Amino acid sequence: MDYSENYQCLYQDVAQSAHWSHDQATLFSIVAYSICPACKEKMHESLVFVSDEKQYDSHAVHHYVTLANQHLLETRGLTIEREIHFSDGASSQFKSKTPFADVAHSVDDYGFPCEKHFFGSRHGKGPCDGEFGVVKRSVSMAVLSRRAVVRNAQEFYEHCSSELTKPKVEPENSCCHSRRTFFYVQESEIPPKRSRSDRINAEPVSQTRKQHAIKPSTEIKVGLSKRLLSCFCRFCVSEQGNQCFNVTHVDGWQSEGRENRKGSKAKKKSSKVKECSKSKQESPKVKKQTPKVKKELFSPKVKRASEAHATVGTVGKDHTENETVGDPESVNGDNLILECSKFSDLTKAVKNLVIEELPKVSAKTFLILDVQSTDIPLKPDSQLFPCTIYGDGNCLPRSASLLVYCSEENHKEMRKRMVIELARNEAYYLDKTFMKKGKQDNAQDDVPKACAHLSSFYMGQQLTKSVVKSLYEKEVLEIRKSGA
Ligand SMILES: [Zn+2]
Ligand SMILES: [Zn+2]
Repeated sequence: MDYSENYQCLYQDVAQSAHWSHDQATLFSIVAYSICPACKEKMHESLVFVSDEKQYDSHAVHHYVTLANQHLLETRGLTIEREIHFSDGASSQFKSKTPFADVAHSVDDYGFPCEKHFFGSRHGKGPCDGEFGVVKRSVSMAVLSRRAVVRNAQEFYEHCSSELTKPKVEPENSCCHSRRTFFYVQESEIPPKRSRSDRINAEPVSQTRKQHAIKPSTEIKVGLSKRLLSCFCRFCVSEQGNQCFNVTHVDGWQSEGRENRKGSKAKKKSSKVKECSKSKQESPKVKKQTPKVKKELFSPKVKRASEAHATVGTVGKDHTENETVGDPESVNGDNLILECSKFSDLTKAVKNLVIEELPKVSAKTFLILDVQSTDIPLKPDSQLFPCTIYGDGNCLPRSASLLVYCSEENHKEMRKRMVIELARNEAYYLDKTFMKKGKQDNAQDDVPKACAHLSSFYMGQQLTKSVVKSLYEKEVLEIRKSGA
């Protein structure tokens, strides 16, 4: 499940838009996977909620989940024994005490337990993003081609519901393994915060940020079990967590009492039970071992990502402190690149920059490793290890910097070099024959066009050569900016 970035309703006529206040539609999507009751195959249904709600909080999310469950149980006739939610770790929506309280109460709310599992935010695209892409593109194209008028959330819903609902016609046998359904939710339908005092006054879970899995406790009436890392091995899937297959990599489920604030702290502490004693014994050993292995292989000074990121604000300063780097502004043309408002200016600006004259950045001798970030369980003797990249919208340049300099701090330099490369070699990147080099057969491949299709500036227009070129130029101008 996920929220989309907001959709700003578009108008065909710019002049007309002045008379309307720009209305926004909030999109929330749940892609629900289940087993087909008829043939036991996997099936999925995308549930897209369109609303004029502007809260984006856990109360709205709970309402959407409630509607989704109602729909799956009543309309689809599914039997739900256990529900697993995947989302990013956005604290206001999915990962804080209120959504955790919703997990603790899930059996009371729905009649079955709901678990929550979290992944890092803003690093990848999930199935929900795919749904949002389809929906937004369809609406933009319909509006621009004057097939539809979409001025607010309700009109947005009406368009999508009639154009994008899947299947168009209900199949005769009951098997339909791919569906898309739209819901319109008015802000007033969402229960106000104050009506959910048992949830907002819940006791916070200790070390909330570190947890990656939360489920209702099987021991305490309204309680939680938490786990630092999620596991979906066959034992964990069948809820035999104490036999977990990945016990050397992940810890066990740990209970945490959940009462309203009135509940005493002492009671909470005493209710912390080790559900899985085997893995608890194992896990400290693993933690000690992991950094040792890394040291042997790479002899880096292991620096905590959290520590490193605390100095993120001083990245620019780091550059000047580094002796091989001169004053960044006068030497490396940062301003020259950023000040251009047109692509032709940018081309001129980078033309005269001699890339060899860019300041050399000395490789740091340490790697920024987050020992806690073992999101991917690896074999103990593996030469690979996970690194934490700070998610501030610069994760790609940061990754490039980490690979080149063993430190993500040179991400600005990486971004700049990408811009220079793209501005100087536009003709190559727009040449589909050139871009096909190294790719096999498939004569249909048109890489520049395919990339233009994915651009956020693409509004559904026909992709002629000049349109692809102008989208390319807009993208290059855009990626100059930090966080883009
Ligand atoms: Zn089926
Ligand atoms: Zn497991």
